[in-house]
Amino acid sequence: MCGIVGYIGSGKATPILMDGLLSLEYRGYDSAGIATLEKNKIVVMKDKGRVKNLYELEGMNDLAGTVGIAHTRWATHGKPSKENSHPHMDNSNSFAVVHNGIIENYADLKDFLTSKGYTFYSQTDTEVIPNLIHYYYTNGPVSILEDGKQKFLGAVKSAIYDLKGSYAIEVISSLCPEEMIVVRKDSPLVIGKGMSENFVASDIPAILKYTKDFYLLDDNEFAVITKDTIHFYDNSLIEHNKSLKNIDWDANAAGKDGYEDFMLKEIYEQPTAVRETIGSRFHLGEKCSFDDVAISKEYLSKVNKIYIVACGTAMHAGLSGKTLIEKLCKIPTVVDIASEFRYRDPLIDENTLCIYISQSGETADTIAALKLAKSKGAKTLAISNVIGSSITREADYSIYTHAGPEIAVASTKAYTSQVVLLAILAMYFAEILGSYPQEEIEKLKSDIIDLPTKIEQVLDNTEEIKNFAKKIYTEKDMFFLGRGTDYNASLEGSLKLKEISYIHSEAYAAGELKHGPIALIENGVTVVGIITNPDLVEKTISNMQEVITRGAKTLIITNQILPNANFDYVVNIPDTNPLVSPILSVIPMQLLSYYISKFKGLDVDKPRNLAKSVTVE
Ligand code: GLU
Repeated sequence: MCGIVGYIGSGKATPILMDGLLSLEYRGYDSAGIATLEKNKIVVMKDKGRVKNLYELEGMNDLAGTVGIAHTRWATHGKPSKENSHPHMDNSNSFAVVHNGIIENYADLKDFLTSKGYTFYSQTDTEVIPNLIHYYYTNGPVSILEDGKQKFLGAVKSAIYDLKGSYAIEVISSLCPEEMIVVRKDSPLVIGKGMSENFVASDIPAILKYTKDFYLLDDNEFAVITKDTIHFYDNSLIEHNKSLKNIDWDANAAGKDGYEDFMLKEIYEQPTAVRETIGSRFHLGEKCSFDDVAISKEYLSKVNKIYIVACGTAMHAGLSGKTLIEKLCKIPTVVDIASEFRYRDPLIDENTLCIYISQSGETADTIAALKLAKSKGAKTLAISNVIGSSITREADYSIYTHAGPEIAVASTKAYTSQVVLLAILAMYFAEILGSYPQEEIEKLKSDIIDLPTKIEQVLDNTEEIKNFAKKIYTEKDMFFLGRGTDYNASLEGSLKLKEISYIHSEAYAAGELKHGPIALIENGVTVVGIITNPDLVEKTISNMQEVITRGAKTLIITNQILPNANFDYVVNIPDTNPLVSPILSVIPMQLLSYYISKFKGLDVDKPRNLAKSVTVE
């Protein structure tokens, strides 16, 4: 959930570590810290609060070490405090560790270490790790104690062997000052290779300005890093080679490019992101193709159920996927929340296809849900925005949104790209199966090709939304209503509002209104209605009239010509196929949340209590 940075080289570590931590801030955190090796002694600087507060700490400016580790913490065990911040040291101050994730069996390990005379100074699960390393370094199996060169690695490996849970870990030691050891399981970690210097981080953009050459560490893989070398070992400490990946992202792509906030930048990047997602996956009159996925007709014909599993915004994108797949492919499709799916023994067999969506590809619940489906014999397909992310490495097939890095915690361009990708996937399946008239697929293709220009049109007309946001930003409650794909979009609109404006909001299928929620409608309550499906216009308008009668203020987002009605605000968006209309209708809702958050003076990019990639369950 938090972030990790590491540096080992000839330059000063601190500026690089701080710079990396600042670029990982978007992930959400409550505390920060760094440790550097200063003349073979580990010096730790840490506290709760913002990364920049570390600059105020006494001695920070004196750090000159060329080896260091750094961390932003998102507390799971023990409240945010200086003591609980990382790095954590062992009792002899020989080992410093930063850890991202959760050690599930830390209580047992703590009891064991306490019985061996170790003392604990924090409430974290992490503090067992440096002490276990020290324990094995001094009491380890003979093989560890005798092999000088491998002693540090042997001790780390033995400690890791005892851990249950998820982790990305960096370790430095005053006893082996030329080395840094890293290992991961179910938490992200990449290694950047430089010239006489090497870098470690939770994600690529954090160190992209220093190198474009990366190793993507696998689960249960160890790396021993010096300034000139990087050696990889499996969990039996057998050394192996690993291929270096050249990442051709533009480092500026991770900057704000003149926008006030990352979220606004990413909202405006949607035309480009959607164009990139479409890429060359289809052209009019030609079948859809995925270079990265070759699903056979034989396999697909046997698939009798599809699950789409995800969390939050990605799950909302999945709802559009369900509508598209059921309509085009005639395969029953269930959308499930990953944290529910993984614990309820879902009905899966080898004829089930399970699709997992995660922008970061590191969402803990979604990865676990994928592993579950695999263990039951189903084929798995991952949709992610991050190449080489954990989920794509677990899945049988992986496809990428290519939306570019998404930094703001509240997801925008990832959502629209995911819906587009699901639409292309549905067309691809339908063309393999012959399950939908080809001329209808061609029409849908042409609607999808037009989407980026139509998104631009929506983004060119933001005044109405801004005015409405100004009028209602002090509200306490809001409702979003829609039917069919408009309901799917309204769920995402409502989530956006909660996330960044802290206004309580609910999305309802408009037909559900009378089954309870209408009791909450009274004078002044704001209701947003989404109306893009010609077959359902009258139905939703009737529901909107019902709330107007009860005193609601209304905003309508529509691409239809509506009968003269007494709505307070109407935002017109371009017409498109209802199957993909959320890609356009969600944008005014993203902007509404954005402007409300700005009028309230909130931190749009880093909403309270939230983290960008939810790598703990
Ligand atoms: N579980 C650890 C803690 O609470 C690490 C949390 C994190 O990933 O930041 O300190």
